[in-house]
Amino acid sequence: MNLLGIDIGGTKIALSIGNERGELFVDQRFPTDPGSAQKTLTRAAEVAGELIAKAGLTVNQIDAIGISSPGPMCSKRRMILQTPNLKGWDHFKVGDFIEDKFKRPVFMQNDANGAGLAEYMFGACKGKDLIYLTMSTGIGAGIIANGQLVAGTNDLGGEVGHMTLDLNGPLCGCGKTGCWEAYCGGKNFADQVRADIACGVQTSILKEAGGDPAKIGMQEVRAAIRAGDAYACKKWDVFIEKMAHAVGILLQAFNPEAIIMGTLAIHGGDLFIPQMRDRIPKYAWKSSLDVCRIEASVLNNIGELSAIAIAIDGVCQLKKG
Ligand SMILES: [Zn+2]
Repeated sequence: MNLLGIDIGGTKIALSIGNERGELFVDQRFPTDPGSAQKTLTRAAEVAGELIAKAGLTVNQIDAIGISSPGPMCSKRRMILQTPNLKGWDHFKVGDFIEDKFKRPVFMQNDANGAGLAEYMFGACKGKDLIYLTMSTGIGAGIIANGQLVAGTNDLGGEVGHMTLDLNGPLCGCGKTGCWEAYCGGKNFADQVRADIACGVQTSILKEAGGDPAKIGMQEVRAAIRAGDAYACKKWDVFIEKMAHAVGILLQAFNPEAIIMGTLAIHGGDLFIPQMRDRIPKYAWKSSLDVCRIEASVLNNIGELSAIAIAIDGVCQLKKG
């Protein structure tokens, strides 16, 4: 199969042509216009046309088009519903627009679900029932159970970052309190560190960031932990505890063969997955933990591959009727 993938991100849109083995023939990225879906997608269609030609194909040789988008979105109507970073995209019919341009089957899922499908089709735990966790600014999951994506009744199935871990916890961007993402989302975690520093907490994290609180990220926190900074170690301890709690819930609920984790885990090394795994037995049965591989993703180009995987999954679902 020849597939066109369109990965819509808050800052960039990535287009690629690939096949069912996850081989990418050609790809190109350009900035997303957060204020105008129409403008960005018009340009995307032009670039896609160029890529199809560059791959030595014609539009009719493209079997399907997959679109990976931020959520919340609607996979049936193929549109983004409302997303804070793409104001001009709310309720724009992305799928219809692309289908009109190319007259090929178009399938759309949110980015976490797409990444779950990509891990299932191409990753180190290919073919296994797995949960992919995005672990970057926010936390979302792509859940594959019994070989099927669990998108839920209205595409909210993988919104695990908003599972409540403590009603008395910090306020989350979604309006609830104590969500997993409020503790462990990359942005929220850095915001909490900044707030503590503003209140006078002494920590070498600030020094690692060159004295500029805006530059505080996980890399600076890890450097401070390795230097033995007491505040950073204590903060990280809470982070790991909340991670173990939430992953424990997923283990109890789904008993997956693998949990594959994105950005923060990829860069976290020995500070992240091994520490978290040690604490999971408090939150999940050992018999479930023992059979689950918990690993950082090794897929490069996960955004592009997610869009390609969405196209493949769409074709498979169509065939099943
Ligand atoms: Zn929330």
